[in-house]
Amino acid sequence: MDTGWIFSYPEESVVRRAFVFAENAHKDVKRESGDPYIIHPLAVANLVREWGLDDASIAAAFLHDVLEDTSHTQKELEKIFGIEIAQIVDGMTKLRNFKFGENPDAENIRKLILSFGKDLRVILIKLADRYHNMMTLKYKSPEKQKEIAWETIEIYAPIAYRLGMQKLSGELEDLSFPFLYEEEYKWLTENVKEQHEERVIYAEKVKSALHKMLEEAHIEPITIDSRAKRYYSLYRKLMRNDMDLGKIYDLVAVRVIVNTIEECYGVLGVIHKHWSPLPRRFKDYIAVPKSNGYRSLHTVVSALENKIIEIQIKTKEMHQENEFGIAAHWAYEQTKKDSTQKTKEWHGVQNKKELLWVQQLQNWQNKFVNQQDFLESLKIDFFKERIFVLTPKNDVIDLPAGSTPVDFAYHIHSDIGNQCTGAKVNGKIVPLDCELHSGDVIEVSTQKGKKPSEDWLRFIKSSMAKKYVKSSLRIKDKRLQTKISAPKEIQFKIANLDRPGYLREITNVFGDLDINILYLNSQTDPRNMFSIVIVRCATIQKQKLTKLLMRIKKIQGTKEISYYYI
Ligand code: MN
Repeated sequence: MDTGWIFSYPEESVVRRAFVFAENAHKDVKRESGDPYIIHPLAVANLVREWGLDDASIAAAFLHDVLEDTSHTQKELEKIFGIEIAQIVDGMTKLRNFKFGENPDAENIRKLILSFGKDLRVILIKLADRYHNMMTLKYKSPEKQKEIAWETIEIYAPIAYRLGMQKLSGELEDLSFPFLYEEEYKWLTENVKEQHEERVIYAEKVKSALHKMLEEAHIEPITIDSRAKRYYSLYRKLMRNDMDLGKIYDLVAVRVIVNTIEECYGVLGVIHKHWSPLPRRFKDYIAVPKSNGYRSLHTVVSALENKIIEIQIKTKEMHQENEFGIAAHWAYEQTKKDSTQKTKEWHGVQNKKELLWVQQLQNWQNKFVNQQDFLESLKIDFFKERIFVLTPKNDVIDLPAGSTPVDFAYHIHSDIGNQCTGAKVNGKIVPLDCELHSGDVIEVSTQKGKKPSEDWLRFIKSSMAKKYVKSSLRIKDKRLQTKISAPKEIQFKIANLDRPGYLREITNVFGDLDINILYLNSQTDPRNMFSIVIVRCATIQKQKLTKLLMRIKKIQGTKEISYYYI
Protein backbone atom coordinates (compact mmCIF):
# COMPACT_ATOMS: atom_id res chain seq x y z
CA MET A 1 0.00 0.00 0.00
CA ASP A 2 1.19 3.47 -0.84
CA THR A 3 1.91 5.36 2.34
CA GLY A 4 4.07 8.03 0.76
CA TRP A 5 1.29 10.61 0.83
CA ILE A 6 1.36 10.76 4.62
CA PHE A 7 4.84 12.16 4.53
CA SER A 8 3.78 15.05 2.36
CA TYR A 9 2.16 16.40 5.53
CA PRO A 10 4.41 18.21 8.02
CA GLU A 11 5.46 16.17 11.02
CA GLU A 12 3.49 18.35 13.45
CA SER A 13 0.28 18.25 11.36
CA VAL A 14 -2.79 16.49 12.78
CA VAL A 15 -2.66 14.01 9.93
CA ARG A 16 0.86 12.88 10.73
CA ARG A 17 0.23 12.89 14.47
CA ALA A 18 -2.98 10.90 14.08
CA PHE A 19 -1.16 8.37 11.93
CA VAL A 20 1.57 7.88 14.52
CA PHE A 21 -0.99 7.70 17.32
CA ALA A 22 -3.08 5.07 15.52
CA GLU A 23 -0.03 3.06 14.58
CA ASN A 24 0.98 2.85 18.23
CA ALA A 25 -2.54 2.24 19.47
CA HIS A 26 -3.11 -0.73 17.15
CA LYS A 27 0.45 -2.03 17.50
CA ASP A 28 0.74 -5.84 17.55
CA VAL A 29 -2.90 -6.23 16.45
CA LYS A 30 -3.63 -8.08 13.24
CA ARG A 31 -6.66 -8.10 11.00
CA GLU A 32 -8.37 -11.32 9.95
CA SER A 33 -6.43 -11.06 6.71
CA GLY A 34 -3.20 -11.32 8.69
CA ASP A 35 -2.21 -7.75 7.85
CA PRO A 36 -1.13 -5.39 10.62
CA TYR A 37 -4.22 -3.55 11.84
CA ILE A 38 -2.94 -0.13 10.82
CA ILE A 39 -3.46 -1.13 7.16
CA HIS A 40 -7.18 -0.60 7.72
CA PRO A 41 -7.20 2.96 9.14
CA LEU A 42 -4.56 3.81 6.57
CA ALA A 43 -6.77 2.67 3.72
CA VAL A 44 -9.76 4.55 5.14
CA ALA A 45 -7.74 7.73 5.63
CA ASN A 46 -6.40 7.50 2.10
CA LEU A 47 -9.87 7.12 0.64
CA VAL A 48 -11.18 10.06 2.61
CA ARG A 49 -8.23 12.10 1.37
CA GLU A 50 -8.94 11.09 -2.23
CA TRP A 51 -12.51 12.29 -1.83
CA GLY A 52 -11.10 15.69 -0.99
CA LEU A 53 -12.13 15.89 2.65
CA ASP A 54 -10.22 18.07 5.09
CA ASP A 55 -7.30 17.25 7.37
CA ALA A 56 -9.57 16.78 10.39
CA SER A 57 -11.39 14.03 8.47
CA ILE A 58 -8.17 12.32 7.45
CA ALA A 59 -6.95 12.43 11.04
CA ALA A 60 -10.30 11.13 12.33
CA ALA A 61 -10.14 8.32 9.76
CA PHE A 62 -6.80 7.25 11.20
CA LEU A 63 -8.29 7.29 14.68
CA HIS A 64 -11.71 5.84 13.86
CA ASP A 65 -11.23 2.45 15.54
CA VAL A 66 -9.12 3.67 18.45
CA LEU A 67 -11.89 4.26 20.99
CA GLU A 68 -13.49 0.91 20.31
CA ASP A 69 -10.46 -1.32 20.01
CA THR A 70 -7.91 0.16 22.39
CA SER A 71 -7.87 1.57 25.91
CA HIS A 72 -7.63 5.17 24.72
CA THR A 73 -10.48 7.47 25.72
CA GLN A 74 -12.48 10.24 24.13
CA LYS A 75 -11.03 12.74 26.63
CA GLU A 76 -7.55 11.79 25.62
CA LEU A 77 -8.28 12.30 21.92
CA GLU A 78 -9.87 15.62 22.73
CA LYS A 79 -6.77 16.74 24.58
CA ILE A 80 -4.35 15.65 21.88
CA PHE A 81 -6.30 16.37 18.69
CA GLY A 82 -8.94 18.87 19.74
CA ILE A 83 -12.69 18.61 20.13
CA GLU A 84 -13.53 18.59 16.40
CA ILE A 85 -11.58 15.44 15.59
CA ALA A 86 -12.55 13.76 18.86
CA GLN A 87 -16.22 14.31 18.07
CA ILE A 88 -15.95 12.81 14.62
CA VAL A 89 -14.28 9.74 16.12
CA ASP A 90 -17.01 9.58 18.76
CA GLY A 91 -19.67 9.68 16.03
CA MET A 92 -17.92 6.81 14.25
CA THR A 93 -17.85 4.77 17.45
CA LYS A 94 -21.54 5.43 17.99
CA LEU A 95 -22.36 4.19 14.51
CA ARG A 96 -20.25 1.12 14.98
CA ASN A 97 -21.88 0.19 18.25
CA PHE A 98 -25.32 0.45 16.81
CA LYS A 99 -26.84 -3.02 16.46
CA PHE A 100 -30.00 -3.78 14.58
CA GLY A 101 -33.13 -4.55 16.52
CA GLU A 102 -35.26 -7.64 16.24
CA ASN A 103 -37.07 -6.44 13.15
CA PRO A 104 -34.55 -4.42 11.28
CA ASP A 105 -36.33 -1.83 9.25
CA ALA A 106 -33.84 -0.71 6.66
CA GLU A 107 -35.57 2.60 6.05
CA ASN A 108 -35.53 3.63 9.66
CA ILE A 109 -31.96 2.54 10.10
CA ARG A 110 -30.88 4.65 7.16
CA LYS A 111 -32.60 7.61 8.74
CA LEU A 112 -31.00 6.94 12.07
CA ILE A 113 -27.56 6.70 10.56
CA LEU A 114 -28.00 9.89 8.59
CA SER A 115 -29.21 11.66 11.69
CA PHE A 116 -25.93 10.83 13.38
CA GLY A 117 -24.37 12.75 10.60
CA LYS A 118 -25.03 16.19 11.96
CA ASP A 119 -21.42 16.27 10.95
CA LEU A 120 -21.53 14.76 7.51
CA ARG A 121 -17.90 13.79 7.79
CA VAL A 122 -18.89 11.02 10.18
CA ILE A 123 -21.00 9.38 7.47
CA LEU A 124 -18.40 9.86 4.79
CA ILE A 125 -15.66 8.27 6.89
CA LYS A 126 -18.09 5.50 7.78
CA LEU A 127 -18.66 4.85 4.08
CA ALA A 128 -14.91 4.70 3.49
CA ASP A 129 -14.59 2.33 6.45
CA ARG A 130 -17.33 0.11 5.08
CA TYR A 131 -15.79 0.13 1.62
CA HIS A 132 -12.47 -1.11 2.91
CA ASN A 133 -14.13 -3.72 5.14
CA MET A 134 -16.03 -5.00 2.10
CA MET A 135 -12.79 -5.35 0.16
CA THR A 136 -11.49 -7.67 2.85
CA LEU A 137 -14.76 -9.42 3.67
CA LYS A 138 -13.58 -12.79 2.43
CA TYR A 139 -11.53 -13.23 5.61
CA LYS A 140 -14.61 -13.17 7.84
CA SER A 141 -16.79 -16.14 8.81
CA PRO A 142 -19.64 -16.94 6.37
CA GLU A 143 -22.17 -15.81 8.94
CA LYS A 144 -20.47 -12.45 9.43
CA GLN A 145 -20.05 -12.08 5.69
CA LYS A 146 -23.78 -12.33 5.12
CA GLU A 147 -24.59 -9.95 7.93
CA ILE A 148 -22.13 -7.29 6.80
CA ALA A 149 -23.04 -7.70 3.13
CA TRP A 150 -26.73 -7.27 3.99
CA GLU A 151 -26.04 -4.11 5.95
CA THR A 152 -23.95 -2.79 3.09
CA ILE A 153 -26.46 -3.42 0.34
CA GLU A 154 -29.51 -2.35 2.34
CA ILE A 155 -28.15 0.50 4.41
CA TYR A 156 -24.85 1.92 3.23
CA ALA A 157 -25.12 1.62 -0.55
CA PRO A 158 -28.45 3.52 -0.55
CA ILE A 159 -26.98 6.16 1.75
CA ALA A 160 -24.03 6.61 -0.60
CA TYR A 161 -26.47 6.86 -3.49
CA ARG A 162 -28.58 9.41 -1.70
CA LEU A 163 -25.49 11.46 -1.01
CA GLY A 164 -24.86 11.44 -4.74
CA MET A 165 -21.89 9.06 -4.60
CA GLN A 166 -23.01 6.81 -7.45
CA LYS A 167 -19.70 5.17 -8.00
CA LEU A 168 -19.20 4.21 -4.38
CA SER A 169 -22.80 3.06 -4.10
CA GLY A 170 -22.40 0.76 -7.10
CA GLU A 171 -19.12 -0.59 -5.82
CA LEU A 172 -20.59 -1.35 -2.41
CA GLU A 173 -23.43 -3.25 -4.08
CA ASP A 174 -21.08 -5.21 -6.29
CA LEU A 175 -18.89 -6.12 -3.33
CA SER A 176 -21.95 -7.38 -1.39
CA PHE A 177 -23.63 -9.17 -4.27
CA PRO A 178 -21.58 -12.43 -4.35
CA PHE A 179 -22.01 -12.92 -0.60
CA LEU A 180 -25.77 -12.54 -0.72
CA TYR A 181 -26.74 -14.16 -4.02
CA GLU A 182 -24.03 -16.72 -4.66
CA GLU A 183 -25.80 -18.70 -7.38
CA GLU A 184 -27.11 -15.71 -9.24
CA TYR A 185 -23.72 -14.08 -9.14
CA LYS A 186 -22.12 -17.16 -10.66
CA TRP A 187 -24.71 -17.41 -13.40
CA LEU A 188 -24.38 -13.75 -14.22
CA THR A 189 -20.61 -13.53 -14.33
CA GLU A 190 -20.41 -16.65 -16.49
CA ASN A 191 -23.02 -15.44 -18.95
CA VAL A 192 -21.81 -11.91 -19.14
CA LYS A 193 -18.16 -12.86 -19.35
CA GLU A 194 -18.71 -14.94 -22.46
CA GLN A 195 -19.39 -11.85 -24.44
CA HIS A 196 -17.24 -9.51 -22.47
CA GLU A 197 -14.22 -9.43 -24.75
CA GLU A 198 -16.39 -8.97 -27.79
CA ARG A 199 -18.00 -5.97 -26.17
CA VAL A 200 -14.69 -4.40 -25.23
CA ILE A 201 -13.52 -4.59 -28.84
CA TYR A 202 -16.82 -3.13 -30.02
CA ALA A 203 -16.64 -0.30 -27.49
CA GLU A 204 -13.20 0.61 -28.81
CA LYS A 205 -14.61 0.88 -32.33
CA VAL A 206 -17.44 3.08 -31.10
CA LYS A 207 -15.02 5.33 -29.29
CA SER A 208 -12.86 5.96 -32.31
CA ALA A 209 -15.92 6.54 -34.49
CA LEU A 210 -17.14 9.08 -31.93
CA HIS A 211 -13.78 10.82 -31.87
CA LYS A 212 -13.94 11.24 -35.61
CA MET A 213 -17.52 12.57 -35.64
CA LEU A 214 -16.76 15.10 -32.94
CA GLU A 215 -13.61 16.21 -34.66
CA GLU A 216 -15.63 16.96 -37.79
CA ALA A 217 -18.03 18.99 -35.67
CA HIS A 218 -15.12 20.84 -34.03
CA ILE A 219 -15.94 19.60 -30.55
CA GLU A 220 -12.98 18.49 -28.53
CA PRO A 221 -14.00 16.07 -25.79
CA ILE A 222 -11.95 15.80 -22.62
CA THR A 223 -12.29 12.03 -22.71
CA ILE A 224 -14.41 9.31 -24.21
CA ASP A 225 -14.42 6.14 -22.19
CA SER A 226 -16.55 3.08 -21.73
CA ARG A 227 -17.56 1.14 -18.69
CA ALA A 228 -19.03 -2.27 -18.20
CA LYS A 229 -22.33 -2.33 -16.40
CA ARG A 230 -22.09 -3.13 -12.73
CA TYR A 231 -23.08 -6.64 -11.82
CA TYR A 232 -25.64 -5.95 -9.14
CA SER A 233 -27.46 -3.27 -11.06
CA LEU A 234 -27.35 -5.57 -14.09
CA TYR A 235 -28.84 -8.33 -11.99
CA ARG A 236 -31.67 -6.08 -10.88
CA LYS A 237 -32.28 -5.00 -14.44
CA LEU A 238 -32.31 -8.60 -15.63
CA MET A 239 -34.91 -9.48 -13.03
CA ARG A 240 -37.13 -6.85 -14.59
CA ASN A 241 -36.40 -8.18 -18.08
CA ASP A 242 -37.01 -11.92 -17.78
CA MET A 243 -33.31 -12.54 -17.24
CA ASP A 244 -32.79 -11.87 -20.93
CA LEU A 245 -29.36 -10.36 -21.56
CA GLY A 246 -30.47 -9.44 -25.06
CA LYS A 247 -32.79 -6.82 -23.61
CA ILE A 248 -30.06 -4.94 -21.81
CA TYR A 249 -28.67 -2.12 -23.89
CA ASP A 250 -26.16 -0.60 -21.59
CA LEU A 251 -23.94 -3.60 -20.91
CA VAL A 252 -21.30 -1.30 -22.22
CA ALA A 253 -22.06 2.36 -21.81
CA VAL A 254 -19.91 4.89 -23.56
CA ARG A 255 -19.25 8.12 -21.73
CA VAL A 256 -18.31 11.39 -23.37
CA ILE A 257 -16.92 14.07 -21.10
CA VAL A 258 -16.72 17.63 -22.40
CA ASN A 259 -16.02 21.11 -21.06
CA THR A 260 -19.37 22.88 -21.13
CA ILE A 261 -23.09 22.20 -20.97
CA GLU A 262 -23.47 23.65 -24.48
CA GLU A 263 -20.99 21.06 -25.71
CA CYS A 264 -23.03 18.31 -24.02
CA TYR A 265 -26.02 19.15 -26.19
CA GLY A 266 -23.70 19.67 -29.15
CA VAL A 267 -22.33 16.15 -28.76
CA LEU A 268 -25.85 14.81 -28.44
CA GLY A 269 -26.81 16.47 -31.71
CA VAL A 270 -23.80 15.03 -33.49
CA ILE A 271 -24.52 11.52 -32.20
CA HIS A 272 -28.18 11.65 -33.14
CA LYS A 273 -27.24 12.87 -36.61
CA HIS A 274 -25.10 9.79 -37.24
CA TRP A 275 -26.80 7.14 -35.17
CA SER A 276 -30.54 7.04 -34.79
CA PRO A 277 -31.79 7.30 -31.22
CA LEU A 278 -34.26 4.78 -29.84
CA PRO A 279 -37.60 6.38 -29.06
CA ARG A 280 -38.25 7.31 -25.45
CA ARG A 281 -34.77 6.35 -24.32
CA PHE A 282 -33.29 9.85 -24.27
CA LYS A 283 -33.06 11.29 -20.76
CA ASP A 284 -32.06 14.85 -19.98
CA TYR A 285 -30.79 14.74 -16.42
CA ILE A 286 -29.10 18.09 -16.98
CA ALA A 287 -32.37 19.99 -17.28
CA VAL A 288 -34.04 17.76 -14.69
CA PRO A 289 -31.40 16.18 -12.42
CA LYS A 290 -32.18 12.96 -10.59
CA SER A 291 -33.29 13.40 -7.00
CA ASN A 292 -29.82 12.63 -5.74
CA GLY A 293 -28.37 15.39 -7.88
CA TYR A 294 -27.16 13.22 -10.75
CA ARG A 295 -26.73 15.23 -13.94
CA SER A 296 -25.98 13.88 -17.41
CA LEU A 297 -27.52 13.28 -20.82
CA HIS A 298 -28.37 9.66 -21.57
CA THR A 299 -29.29 8.39 -24.97
CA VAL A 300 -29.66 4.93 -26.46
CA VAL A 301 -28.75 4.71 -30.13
CA SER A 302 -28.39 2.21 -32.87
CA ALA A 303 -24.66 2.59 -33.51
CA LEU A 304 -22.09 0.76 -35.64
CA GLU A 305 -23.29 -2.54 -37.08
CA ASN A 306 -26.77 -1.51 -35.91
CA LYS A 307 -25.94 -2.50 -32.37
CA ILE A 308 -27.81 -0.79 -29.58
CA ILE A 309 -25.68 1.10 -27.06
CA GLU A 310 -26.14 3.66 -24.33
CA ILE A 311 -24.16 6.89 -24.43
CA GLN A 312 -23.81 9.27 -21.49
CA ILE A 313 -22.71 12.85 -22.03
CA LYS A 314 -21.63 15.14 -19.23
CA THR A 315 -19.20 17.85 -18.24
CA LYS A 316 -16.13 17.16 -16.15
CA GLU A 317 -17.74 18.90 -13.20
CA MET A 318 -20.87 16.77 -13.47
CA HIS A 319 -18.74 13.69 -13.76
CA GLN A 320 -16.93 14.51 -10.57
CA GLU A 321 -20.13 15.26 -8.75
CA ASN A 322 -21.63 12.02 -9.98
CA GLU A 323 -18.69 10.05 -8.73
CA PHE A 324 -18.09 11.79 -5.44
CA GLY A 325 -21.45 13.36 -4.71
CA ILE A 326 -21.74 15.20 -1.48
CA ALA A 327 -18.03 14.71 -0.86
CA ALA A 328 -17.30 16.81 -3.93
CA HIS A 329 -19.53 19.58 -2.59
CA TRP A 330 -17.92 19.32 0.76
CA ALA A 331 -14.54 19.74 -0.85
CA TYR A 332 -15.73 22.85 -2.68
CA GLU A 333 -16.96 24.32 0.55
CA GLN A 334 -13.62 23.62 2.16
CA THR A 335 -11.79 25.34 -0.66
CA LYS A 336 -13.85 28.39 0.05
CA LYS A 337 -13.18 28.30 3.77
CA ASP A 338 -9.47 28.07 3.10
CA SER A 339 -9.30 30.97 0.73
CA THR A 340 -9.88 34.47 2.01
CA GLN A 341 -11.57 35.61 -1.17
CA LYS A 342 -15.22 35.03 -1.67
CA THR A 343 -15.48 34.31 -5.33
CA LYS A 344 -18.61 34.42 -7.36
CA GLU A 345 -18.06 30.91 -8.56
CA TRP A 346 -18.18 29.59 -5.06
CA HIS A 347 -21.55 31.16 -4.41
CA GLY A 348 -22.87 29.28 -7.38
CA VAL A 349 -21.67 26.02 -5.94
CA GLN A 350 -23.07 26.82 -2.54
CA ASN A 351 -26.49 27.52 -3.97
CA LYS A 352 -26.42 24.36 -5.96
CA LYS A 353 -25.43 22.40 -2.93
CA GLU A 354 -28.34 23.71 -0.92
CA LEU A 355 -30.60 22.85 -3.75
CA LEU A 356 -29.37 19.32 -3.96
CA TRP A 357 -30.00 18.85 -0.29
CA VAL A 358 -33.51 20.06 -0.66
CA GLN A 359 -34.11 17.65 -3.48
CA GLN A 360 -32.52 14.78 -1.67
CA LEU A 361 -34.42 15.35 1.51
CA GLN A 362 -37.71 15.76 -0.21
CA ASN A 363 -37.20 12.59 -2.14
CA TRP A 364 -36.16 10.92 1.04
CA GLN A 365 -39.36 11.87 2.71
CA ASN A 366 -41.52 10.91 -0.21
CA LYS A 367 -40.07 7.49 -0.08
CA PHE A 368 -39.49 6.64 3.50
CA VAL A 369 -41.67 8.49 5.93
CA ASN A 370 -45.24 7.39 6.39
CA GLN A 371 -47.83 9.76 5.08
CA GLN A 372 -48.64 11.40 8.39
CA ASP A 373 -45.04 12.06 9.28
CA PHE A 374 -44.48 13.25 5.79
CA LEU A 375 -47.20 15.85 6.09
CA GLU A 376 -45.98 17.00 9.46
CA SER A 377 -42.39 17.30 8.53
CA LEU A 378 -42.15 18.61 5.03
CA LYS A 379 -39.48 21.05 6.01
CA ILE A 380 -36.23 21.90 4.37
CA ASP A 381 -33.77 20.80 6.99
CA PHE A 382 -34.83 17.30 7.75
CA PHE A 383 -32.14 16.57 10.29
CA LYS A 384 -32.76 19.69 12.26
CA GLU A 385 -36.37 18.75 12.68
CA ARG A 386 -36.27 15.06 13.51
CA ILE A 387 -34.36 12.83 15.86
CA PHE A 388 -34.10 9.06 15.88
CA VAL A 389 -34.02 7.28 19.19
CA LEU A 390 -34.01 3.63 20.13
CA THR A 391 -36.11 1.34 22.26
CA PRO A 392 -34.22 -1.07 24.54
CA LYS A 393 -34.75 -3.60 21.73
CA ASN A 394 -33.08 -1.24 19.28
CA ASP A 395 -36.17 -0.41 17.31
CA VAL A 396 -35.81 3.02 15.80
CA ILE A 397 -38.39 5.64 16.77
CA ASP A 398 -38.68 8.82 14.77
CA LEU A 399 -39.58 11.95 16.82
CA PRO A 400 -39.55 15.73 16.34
CA ALA A 401 -36.37 17.41 17.55
CA GLY A 402 -36.59 18.51 21.18
CA SER A 403 -38.74 15.52 22.10
CA THR A 404 -38.72 14.19 25.65
CA PRO A 405 -39.23 10.75 27.21
CA VAL A 406 -42.96 11.54 27.38
CA ASP A 407 -43.12 12.03 23.61
CA PHE A 408 -41.31 8.75 23.25
CA ALA A 409 -43.74 6.98 25.60
CA TYR A 410 -46.76 8.25 23.67
CA HIS A 411 -45.18 7.18 20.45
CA ILE A 412 -44.94 3.59 21.72
CA HIS A 413 -48.54 3.53 22.95
CA SER A 414 -51.04 6.02 24.36
CA ASP A 415 -51.39 3.94 27.57
CA ILE A 416 -47.65 3.94 28.10
CA GLY A 417 -47.67 7.70 27.61
CA ASN A 418 -50.56 8.30 29.98
CA GLN A 419 -49.11 6.10 32.70
CA CYS A 420 -45.50 7.16 32.30
CA THR A 421 -43.80 7.94 35.61
CA GLY A 422 -40.09 7.98 34.91
CA ALA A 423 -37.44 7.42 32.27
CA LYS A 424 -33.94 6.24 31.68
CA VAL A 425 -31.79 7.51 28.84
CA ASN A 426 -28.78 5.37 28.00
CA GLY A 427 -29.21 3.61 31.34
CA LYS A 428 -29.32 6.82 33.42
CA ILE A 429 -32.40 8.08 35.22
CA VAL A 430 -33.50 11.42 33.77
CA PRO A 431 -36.34 13.90 34.42
CA LEU A 432 -39.35 13.54 32.13
CA ASP A 433 -38.66 16.87 30.44
CA CYS A 434 -35.14 15.91 29.46
CA GLU A 435 -34.39 16.56 25.79
CA LEU A 436 -33.61 13.45 23.76
CA HIS A 437 -30.92 13.15 21.10
CA SER A 438 -30.50 10.92 18.10
CA GLY A 439 -29.13 7.55 19.06
CA ASP A 440 -30.31 7.67 22.68
CA VAL A 441 -31.71 4.44 24.06
CA ILE A 442 -34.89 5.18 26.03
CA GLU A 443 -36.66 3.14 28.67
CA VAL A 444 -39.79 4.39 30.40
CA SER A 445 -41.40 3.13 33.57
CA THR A 446 -45.18 3.19 34.01
CA GLN A 447 -47.65 2.91 36.83
CA LYS A 448 -51.10 1.53 36.26
CA GLY A 449 -53.94 4.03 36.61
CA LYS A 450 -51.68 7.04 36.61
CA LYS A 451 -52.94 10.13 34.77
CA PRO A 452 -50.84 12.50 32.67
CA SER A 453 -49.86 15.79 34.23
CA GLU A 454 -50.91 19.15 32.83
CA ASP A 455 -47.34 20.25 33.32
CA TRP A 456 -46.30 17.96 30.48
CA LEU A 457 -47.86 20.29 27.95
CA ARG A 458 -45.08 22.70 28.81
CA PHE A 459 -42.40 20.50 27.33
CA ILE A 460 -43.77 17.79 25.04
CA LYS A 461 -43.10 18.30 21.36
CA SER A 462 -45.00 15.79 19.26
CA SER A 463 -48.52 16.67 18.26
CA MET A 464 -49.57 13.12 18.93
CA ALA A 465 -48.50 13.34 22.58
CA LYS A 466 -50.16 16.74 22.97
CA LYS A 467 -53.38 15.40 21.60
CA TYR A 468 -53.43 12.47 24.03
CA VAL A 469 -52.53 14.57 27.05
CA LYS A 470 -55.20 17.12 26.25
CA SER A 471 -57.91 14.60 25.62
CA SER A 472 -56.92 12.82 28.79
CA LEU A 473 -57.08 16.03 30.81
CA ARG A 474 -60.14 17.20 28.89
CA ILE A 475 -58.85 20.69 28.91
CA LYS A 476 -61.48 23.25 28.11
CA ASP A 477 -59.12 26.16 28.19
CA LYS A 478 -59.92 28.25 25.16
CA ARG A 479 -56.38 29.26 24.55
CA LEU A 480 -55.25 25.69 24.28
CA GLN A 481 -58.14 24.87 22.05
CA THR A 482 -57.33 27.55 19.55
CA LYS A 483 -53.82 26.22 19.48
CA ILE A 484 -54.97 22.85 18.37
CA SER A 485 -57.59 24.07 15.96
CA ALA A 486 -57.00 22.74 12.49
CA PRO A 487 -55.17 24.83 9.91
CA LYS A 488 -57.41 26.45 7.33
CA GLU A 489 -55.18 26.86 4.32
CA ILE A 490 -52.23 25.26 2.58
CA GLN A 491 -49.58 27.25 0.82
CA PHE A 492 -47.56 25.58 -1.94
CA LYS A 493 -44.23 26.79 -3.15
CA ILE A 494 -43.24 25.41 -6.54
CA ALA A 495 -39.77 26.06 -7.89
CA ASN A 496 -39.61 25.61 -11.64
CA LEU A 497 -37.72 26.29 -14.80
CA ASP A 498 -40.15 28.76 -16.22
CA ARG A 499 -41.49 28.19 -19.70
CA PRO A 500 -44.54 29.41 -21.58
CA GLY A 501 -47.65 27.64 -20.42
CA TYR A 502 -46.20 26.45 -17.15
CA LEU A 503 -48.46 28.51 -14.93
CA ARG A 504 -51.54 27.41 -16.82
CA GLU A 505 -50.61 23.75 -16.42
CA ILE A 506 -50.27 24.30 -12.68
CA THR A 507 -53.67 25.89 -12.40
CA ASN A 508 -55.13 23.14 -14.58
CA VAL A 509 -54.01 20.52 -12.08
CA PHE A 510 -55.82 22.35 -9.30
CA GLY A 511 -58.88 22.70 -11.50
CA ASP A 512 -58.89 19.03 -12.47
CA LEU A 513 -58.90 18.09 -8.82
CA ASP A 514 -61.68 20.56 -8.03
CA ILE A 515 -59.52 22.65 -5.77
CA ASN A 516 -60.23 26.37 -5.62
CA ILE A 517 -57.16 28.52 -5.76
CA LEU A 518 -57.33 31.29 -3.16
CA TYR A 519 -54.08 33.01 -4.08
CA LEU A 520 -51.60 32.68 -6.90
CA ASN A 521 -48.35 34.50 -7.45
CA SER A 522 -45.24 33.97 -9.50
CA GLN A 523 -41.83 35.40 -8.77
CA THR A 524 -38.16 34.80 -9.42
CA ASP A 525 -36.25 33.29 -6.56
CA PRO A 526 -33.58 35.48 -4.97
CA ARG A 527 -30.81 33.32 -6.34
CA ASN A 528 -32.22 33.91 -9.79
CA MET A 529 -32.10 30.25 -10.58
CA PHE A 530 -35.75 29.46 -10.75
CA SER A 531 -39.14 30.92 -11.02
CA ILE A 532 -41.25 30.38 -7.90
CA VAL A 533 -44.98 29.87 -8.00
CA ILE A 534 -46.93 30.39 -4.78
CA VAL A 535 -50.41 28.87 -4.64
CA ARG A 536 -52.78 28.90 -1.70
CA CYS A 537 -55.92 26.88 -1.27
CA ALA A 538 -58.19 25.61 1.51
CA THR A 539 -56.89 22.49 3.27
CA ILE A 540 -57.57 19.33 1.34
CA GLN A 541 -57.71 15.64 2.12
CA LYS A 542 -54.47 13.71 2.30
CA GLN A 543 -55.27 11.59 -0.71
CA LYS A 544 -56.04 14.56 -2.82
CA LEU A 545 -52.91 16.28 -1.61
CA THR A 546 -50.75 13.34 -2.60
CA LYS A 547 -52.36 13.27 -6.03
CA LEU A 548 -51.81 16.98 -6.42
CA LEU A 549 -48.15 16.79 -5.43
CA MET A 550 -47.55 13.92 -7.82
CA ARG A 551 -49.18 15.64 -10.73
CA ILE A 552 -47.36 18.90 -10.18
CA LYS A 553 -44.05 17.07 -9.95
CA LYS A 554 -44.77 15.49 -13.31
CA ILE A 555 -45.21 18.83 -15.05
CA GLN A 556 -42.21 19.50 -17.21
CA GLY A 557 -40.00 22.10 -15.58
CA THR A 558 -41.01 21.50 -11.95
CA LYS A 559 -37.94 21.39 -9.75
CA GLU A 560 -39.25 21.30 -6.21
CA ILE A 561 -42.54 21.57 -4.47
CA SER A 562 -42.99 22.24 -0.79
CA TYR A 563 -45.96 23.30 1.25
CA TYR A 564 -47.04 24.26 4.69
CA TYR A 565 -50.27 24.79 6.54
CA ILE A 566 -51.41 28.26 7.55
MN1 MN B 1 -12.94 0.43 10.86
